[in-house]
Amino acid sequence: MNCDPSLPELSPEELERYARQIGPGVMSLEGQQRLKQSTVLVTRVGGMGGPAALSLVLAGVGRVIIAHGGELISPDLNRQVLGSEAGLGELRAPRFAESLRSMNRFVTVEAIDHEPNDEEAEELAKRVDLIVSCPPTFAERLRLDRAARAAGIPLVDAAQWGMTGTLIVVGPGHNCLRCAYPEEPPFEEFFPVVGAISAATGSLAALEAIKILSGTGRPAWGKMLVYDGFQGFTRWVHLQPCAACRAAAGSLQSRASHK
Ligand SMILES: [Zn+2]
Repeated sequence: MNCDPSLPELSPEELERYARQIGPGVMSLEGQQRLKQSTVLVTRVGGMGGPAALSLVLAGVGRVIIAHGGELISPDLNRQVLGSEAGLGELRAPRFAESLRSMNRFVTVEAIDHEPNDEEAEELAKRVDLIVSCPPTFAERLRLDRAARAAGIPLVDAAQWGMTGTLIVVGPGHNCLRCAYPEEPPFEEFFPVVGAISAATGSLAALEAIKILSGTGRPAWGKMLVYDGFQGFTRWVHLQPCAACRAAAGSLQSRASHK
């Protein structure tokens, strides 16, 4: 079946698979085709990135690239839904990619067994339509933000601490990560986290990615969601443009007024 001939066709088997997510209030047929055409980078694929990658694969994003270094260790298993007791000691990315492939035969999953450096992140950003950023370190999150901005693609950033999750949706003309964090947030090597908040935040990150890629609903552009499960409140923060975003908007405006 083919709604828009410029987009990849969906087979009867794919239409059957996605029947519950195509229709009023969810995705159009064309939106599903757009998902099939899309490539998303998810880095890393731990407590948040794992559920994010899983939701993207299940939803039918055509190609999902996962990047994560290191081996699966016991403390990972309180939240890493793609892991298992049997996988302890194995490299996470290839093992998780295998698990993801077993979930949906209609999509392609690529594994990168390390965290991309600056150059690799830039190259990857050129190959993908959107980045879901789930690293624990701010340096990595900023690297992905820079790469996404250079490639002109959206970035959905997910972070967690304890029972709190934050979600930030930025993209061309819609803020950057520095708008949310003018100062570097504190970092702990072995920070506390409960798997339920990791999975919830990762799943919401995937939902925003699905909306943006398929052209469905209203993406949370330029907003940060804070879900504090410990205190029991949710807050949406409208990001204010940082100096770089103000300068970028200013140069766009002056270019437009000179036309
Ligand atoms: Zn900014």
